[in-house]
Amino acid sequence: MVFEHTFCQYCLRCCINTEMILLRSDIERISRYGFDPTHFAEKRGRFIKLKNVDNHCVFLDPQSRRCTIYEIRPLGCRLYPLIYVEGIGVTLDSECPLSRYWMSRCDELETGLKQLEEFLMRLEIEYRYRVDWRLFNSSKASLLSMCKDHRYLSPSTP
Ligand code: SF4
Repeated sequence: MVFEHTFCQYCLRCCINTEMILLRSDIERISRYGFDPTHFAEKRGRFIKLKNVDNHCVFLDPQSRRCTIYEIRPLGCRLYPLIYVEGIGVTLDSECPLSRYWMSRCDELETGLKQLEEFLMRLEIEYRYRVDWRLFNSSKASLLSMCKDHRYLSPSTP
């Protein structure tokens, strides 16, 4: 999404046992590059998600610790560590070392939040998933406010 390739520290936290949900547009885009959906997508619960192989995303190269489809990776991967958690709302996954960086770039965070909103709207349409928009909006406002006040400090970021 907003971050450049070079910022990722390849800790692999987001690609191990991935639960990444795929949008229709993700599946279409990745398929256009020659990958068969049966190779990378599977229905788990109510969602179609990225497949795991040997406990990691099928697109992760464990040797190089790189995503092999980085330029065309799913929108959810682009947005990470920005996530929506039921009952909590919008948050930055403190497991990701980039969370701290986001909090120092409020403009980019704002752009990411808009993209996350679009992602959630797609989930509602494609999966009949129900988003708590009141919670989304309040948690979004609070995250942006923390960013602007520079009050955020994550214990698990370097
Ligand atoms: S598509 Fe790439 S970034 Fe997304 S989980 Fe798989 S390896 Fe990680």
